[in-house]
Parts: sequence; C-alpha cells; structure tokens
Amino acid sequence: MQPWLVADAHVDVLMKLLDPNIRFLEDGPALDASLPSLAAGHVATQVFALFVSPQADAGSQLHDVLCEIDAFYDQVATVPTVRHVKSRTDLRAARTQGQLAAILSLEGGGCLRGSVEILRMLHELGVRGMGLTWNDANELADGCGELRGAGLTRAGRAVVRELQRLSMWIDLAHLHDAGVRDILRFTDGPVMASHANSRAIHDHRRNLTDDVIREIIRRDGWMGLTFEASFLSDGPTTAEDVFRHLDHVLNLGGAKHIGFGSDFDGTSHAVQGLARSSDYANFAEQLTERYGHELAKQLLFDNFEAFLVRQLPA
Ligand SMILES: [Zn+2]
Repeated sequence: MQPWLVADAHVDVLMKLLDPNIRFLEDGPALDASLPSLAAGHVATQVFALFVSPQADAGSQLHDVLCEIDAFYDQVATVPTVRHVKSRTDLRAARTQGQLAAILSLEGGGCLRGSVEILRMLHELGVRGMGLTWNDANELADGCGELRGAGLTRAGRAVVRELQRLSMWIDLAHLHDAGVRDILRFTDGPVMASHANSRAIHDHRRNLTDDVIREIIRRDGWMGLTFEASFLSDGPTTAEDVFRHLDHVLNLGGAKHIGFGSDFDGTSHAVQGLARSSDYANFAEQLTERYGHELAKQLLFDNFEAFLVRQLPA
C-alpha cells in the first residue's frame, strides 16, 4: 500500500533560518521541520510562513521578510526533492516527480505598511497566501491580541481586494473577530485559516467560532488544526486533544474542509508526541486507527490538496 502523505499549512522554519548557524538540510534540535524531519513524516506539501516580530521597526520588517524569502530560495527551493509551488502546474509537476510542494505565505501584513505595491512584489517572488495580521494591530487591521478590536482599515480592504485579484488565499488565523467579520462581509469567495482550532472546544482568542467554521465550510474553504498546546486545552496536551477539536469540526460538517497546520518551529508549548514534522508518522497511524483509512487520508492530505487546486492560479 502507498504510504500516507501529509499536507501541512503552517511552519515557521524560515524565521529560524535567519540564523546562519541553522540549516534546513540538517536534522537536529534546532529545527522541528528540517528537510529530514519533513521526509520522515511523509510531508508532501508544506506551507512556509514568512513571519517577523511586530516589535521590529517598519524598515526591518520588510527586510526580514525578504531575507526569509532569500533563505527559502537558497536552502529550500534549491533542494532537488523540493519544488517551489506557485501554480496548479507547479503542483502537478511536484506530484509527478514525487517532490515536496513548498509554498510561501505571509503571516501578518505589517511589512506592507498598507501598500498593495509591496504585496504585488511579494506575489512576484512567489508568495501565494496571506494573513492580514499577527496578534498585534497594523495598517490593515487589528490582530486578535489588540484590545481596541477594530476591523479592516481602508488599506486592509484594498489588500483583500488585491489578494482576490491575484488568487492569493486569505488566511483568517491571528485576525481579530471584527476583522474576520469584515472579510466575510466584503468577500464571498473561499477563505482559510492556516493554523487555528475550535473556540467551542477551547475558549482561546486564536481559535475560531462555530459560525466562522461553518462559513469556511460553506465557501469551500479550508482550516488547519494546529498543535500549539495552549490553543488545544489547559494542562498537559496530547493527540487526544487534537481529536476533540477535529471531532467538533467533523460534526459541523467539515470532513472535506479540515486538515492540519502544525505551527512547528513556531509553537511555544508542544503537544506530547507531536512536536516535530517526523511525528506525523505516529500521528497518521493514530488518525487511521480512529477514523479509518479513507477519512485519515482526506484529513492528512486530500482536503488541502483540493483547496490548493481551487485556490492556486493555473
Ligand atoms: Zn502563527
């Protein structure tokens, strides 16, 4: 039987690659999602987030994002078993060659400073998805940690329109509820949440309400459950907690619209036994045992693949 494949919609490896002592090709404690770790977990699609600390000043945010893209071009896209996927054509080629489909997404639009021109240039460099904010507020919208709780600014709306025009996905993770409501009001196409869980199961500002999850499903979007322990439960957290969130989304009708966005290399609290990409090997077995081969395959890979086919340009 063909081994399972995994699609993961969020890791923060690129941020770590800004440290010249850390190498993507090397397995070791420095990276959860190194190339050997991804291979051991049978990861066939990996979205690489571009994240910079909101504490960085305006100029250095864009600088850091460009350096992360450079690290991606230098250390990730050059690997013969990896393909930088920017289109459906690239995705098909990656599948034919059995390569890891590597996709760039922007986690937080602070580096744009409200400018669609910079977004267009990031798109030229191959960025294919974006979340408007991290937890802080920026020129586009308030993140989920901003007390003011405002929705989208004029610049935020312009960026959303440009994302749609460019066929880039709109990522709801980290956005304040008010911004999520605005996006759902101003758009009617698919939206996604790359790494977030269910707020009904664990009341955390980074998790999605049932209304939003239902809307993602209705629009043929996608959400990735994430393995940051503090978004899953209080206290020690295991794969069982991931399954509680998964069961809830399945009950809402999300069997074809859910998968995983691990947040490896970005989590502050790891789930027991689910702390690096290679742990997908065990996790896939647990999923198969619990949900059966067909559904497990769908959750691990097929759903995100179908979303990519719907979302990526030809
Ligand atoms: Zn994040």
